Amino acid sequence: MTAQLAQMTARDAKSSLSNRVLVIPLGSTEQHGPHLPLATDTTITSKITQSLIDLRPSQTILAPMIPFGCSGEHSAIAGTLSVSTQALVLYLVELVRSCEFNQAIAIVSAHGGNALPILNAHRILEGEGREVMAWIPTVDALINAAERHQAPLSFRGLWQPDLHAGRTETSIMLALDPSSVNLQAARAGSLEDPVKLIEMMKTGGIESVSKNGVIGDPTGSSAEEGLLILSAFAEDLISNFDKFYKKVTS
Ligand SMILES: [Zn+2]
Repeated sequence: MTAQLAQMTARDAKSSLSNRVLVIPLGSTEQHGPHLPLATDTTITSKITQSLIDLRPSQTILAPMIPFGCSGEHSAIAGTLSVSTQALVLYLVELVRSCEFNQAIAIVSAHGGNALPILNAHRILEGEGREVMAWIPTVDALINAAERHQAPLSFRGLWQPDLHAGRTETSIMLALDPSSVNLQAARAGSLEDPVKLIEMMKTGGIESVSKNGVIGDPTGSSAEEGLLILSAFAEDLISNFDKFYKKVTS
């Protein structure tokens, strides 16, 4: 049965936490163009995390979702709520430090802007001898899954410029919560080289690269494609989790 930390008594938590990994989902509240909700990253993170909890119920405990992350580059567009990279690193480090010292922790986030703070926090915590794994989605996870399943991911070339509220995220949201997607309002944003765009965003924010807050093109998105992407991410998370679990329990 799924164990949710927030529903447990302190006594139950004490006995359960000793042999299970505490999984902490970290989302964001961030503009996702004119067609996707602000909770897009939180919704996607929640679903991927739940796949892990469902498939490894005796090895995991689900912590409450953290709905705010690092989205500073999107702050010019209404609705975005965010903290700095330094603040998020410190938040994650102190949160993990507040657990029992030998508690194994997995931090899961589907928001690219959280990647750097998660990795920095991970490095600090590992340096303190704590058992922590961090997972964020990667293009490699999709390509590997596509190859393993021979999935018709003929659109692989799209991954690179599809950074934000484009085909990937629109497809996932069509699979998870179609009523939250306003497809009529969906428009392509910037389609330039993503490496260049990321650099420009670091100094000038989203408004320096995309007027509508989209990087990529939602054209062609579908729920079917969203399910494929979700299962590829879930598979990657579970395979990383299994290695981590083996390490912390051996
Ligand atoms: Zn997103």
